[in-house]
Amino acid sequence: MRSQKDVDTTAFYKELDVPKDAPTADIKKAYRKLAIKHHPDKGGDPEKFKTISRAYEVLSDPEKRSSYDQYGEEGLDGSSSNASDIFDLFFGGQRVQRQKPGKRKGEDIVSSLKCTLEQIYAGATRKLAINKDVICPECSGRGGPEGCKVDCKDCGGQGIRVQIRQMGPMITQTQSACSSCEGQGKVLREDLRCKKCRGQGVIKERKILEVHIDKGVPNRHKIVFSSEADEKPGEIPGDVVFVVEQSDHGIFTRNGIHLRMTKTITLVEALTGFEFALTHLDGRKLLITSRPGDITKPKDVKVVKEEGMPLHKNPFVKGNLLIEFEVVFPDKSQLTTDARLKLREILPKPTEHTKLTRQDADEVHVVADADENDVRDESAYRRGEMNEDDEAAQEGGQRVQCQHQ
Ligand code: ZN
Ligand code: ZN
Repeated sequence: MRSQKDVDTTAFYKELDVPKDAPTADIKKAYRKLAIKHHPDKGGDPEKFKTISRAYEVLSDPEKRSSYDQYGEEGLDGSSSNASDIFDLFFGGQRVQRQKPGKRKGEDIVSSLKCTLEQIYAGATRKLAINKDVICPECSGRGGPEGCKVDCKDCGGQGIRVQIRQMGPMITQTQSACSSCEGQGKVLREDLRCKKCRGQGVIKERKILEVHIDKGVPNRHKIVFSSEADEKPGEIPGDVVFVVEQSDHGIFTRNGIHLRMTKTITLVEALTGFEFALTHLDGRKLLITSRPGDITKPKDVKVVKEEGMPLHKNPFVKGNLLIEFEVVFPDKSQLTTDARLKLREILPKPTEHTKLTRQDADEVHVVADADENDVRDESAYRRGEMNEDDEAAQEGGQRVQCQHQ
């Protein structure tokens, strides 16, 4: 049913130069060799290093590997680790904080971005306002003019306070961060305090971010705005990260690059052909028809080729639309005796036509609709509950009836 022709599920294997059925041990071996060769610290190409690290990240994880084998990169959730982190983890090192001394990176702001299936299908741009701290332009984050900070009197500029206590013959010495300067050793001179930021060094600013939702973006994909989080003096700002959260759709269910839907047709349509209108996610009105002469059975799945989701980053390639059919049968009241007889004539005869006539049968059983009481297990019979129910059912007249000849 699923078309895999458009999905590349081999690139990662080629990247590591291993066969598609390579065991994890071989994938590790291949990565080790390539990672050392292409590591940027050893003069390798950073892009190449990134690609092989990504390939290793996916193929070394059985769950990710199986999604990749089925749907290619589209099947992955889009999150990927930093190539250097993968390298460090692989070679047993802990995650090394790669930052310039004295400049730490601030916290990322992560929020989810609700997207409709229509937006993901056609692509969309959303403008989102964020309120963030920015370095005060008046004082460049110092909290006042140059020289506005002086040594803290309480700790003598050390940032720590030492307490010496005598308990009997013992002298103990404890150190704690100075509370007056919060361990900084410097305090702001009140008379020089910046008026714009009240000495905070940062002010709030509203900023509009234009978020592009690419066609076919995978659910949970992260859209990153580098260094757009809160600014703080002496820090590299963190990133603003939007995580795509695909909302449910009334008709379509997304399955990677494919769309699925259920369609209910009548018995006549099932037997003689159907035709129905379908509005696609981009508003196009499609007429979906069966092939002449085709019979559609309940649970049959039919495909409309290339009417699925666009492939992320290559939106001209599209998946398929898979339609599962439900068939509604006519109601008892909708079929006259006349119609019944006609149908008997028209439709193929039952294959196991009864050879036993009513007269020859020992018993004739007319079946009724089964309900949950009819399928209770033997414990209910042991408790004797069946008798009561039998009586109740008898009153309703819905029970299987026996006619003794
Ligand atoms: Zn102090
Ligand atoms: Zn200021």
